[in-house]
Amino acid sequence: AIAVSHLSKDFGEVRALSDVSLSVPAGQIAVLLGLSGSGKSTLLRHFNQLELPSAGEVRVLGERVDALRGKELRRLRSRVGVIFQQFELVPSLSVMENVLTGALSRLTGPRLGLVSYPKALRAKALDHLERVGLGGKAFQRADTLSGGQQQRVAIARALMQDPEILLADEPVASLDPESSQQVMNLIREIGMERSLTVVCSLHQVELALSWGDRIIGLRAGSLVLDTPTEGLGKEQVMEIYGQVATST
Ligand code: ATP
Ligand code: MG
Repeated sequence: AIAVSHLSKDFGEVRALSDVSLSVPAGQIAVLLGLSGSGKSTLLRHFNQLELPSAGEVRVLGERVDALRGKELRRLRSRVGVIFQQFELVPSLSVMENVLTGALSRLTGPRLGLVSYPKALRAKALDHLERVGLGGKAFQRADTLSGGQQQRVAIARALMQDPEILLADEPVASLDPESSQQVMNLIREIGMERSLTVVCSLHQVELALSWGDRIIGLRAGSLVLDTPTEGLGKEQVMEIYGQVATST
């Protein structure tokens, strides 16, 4: 679970988040919806302490993540899987090695080549690749894959941590509609299979409505809506468009 209480974040003169409070219960699949600059990435980055609050508290998996340091912080981060808009694979490495890097926090010492990884981890990586439909591409270079395939590799990489929480920051913003749908379906299915708490930022209202259990809307750093997606009437949908699709 994630619980944010009165979180504000300033970057110099810019107030990126303003008094945001919310909680996402364990196992929920939530969307963070908002226009460019509304604070989505900044909020997500607080969940594994890539940002520290200017004010307020952030609790993740029962820990005050904003207060953790060193080993405790590394342990917390290992329980939180992350997926990025630009996939962030190592282009010159094989798909399999990219997936294996997801387990690096558990291993000591540098790794050179596939054989340096324990056999059990290699088997696990292959299982995850098969789960995302890419078992047949394990030994290709990552940069020979399409964007949608690369994002699926990134999902397999995140699974190597056996995360309890999955954060995805605009995971389909650079994909075509068909690959977007595939990747979003996969994130949802895997989230449900593993009872993960999932928070995914998006800027498309339609996708958010069809995909999430719940929508958390940000506008200019403030939380402006927080609603389950089930049973929304037309008026409420119009309200959502009004809140996150128009400028202030
Ligand atoms: P996008 O949809 O474009 O990714 P976003 O909703 O993720 O936008 P953020 O990246 O969280 O928005 O940015 C929120 C605000 O904070 C913006 O005004 C942005 O310019 C500012 N901001 C974010 N990070 C920094 C930083 N490191 N230094 C200064 N300002 C920042
Ligand atoms: Mg962003």
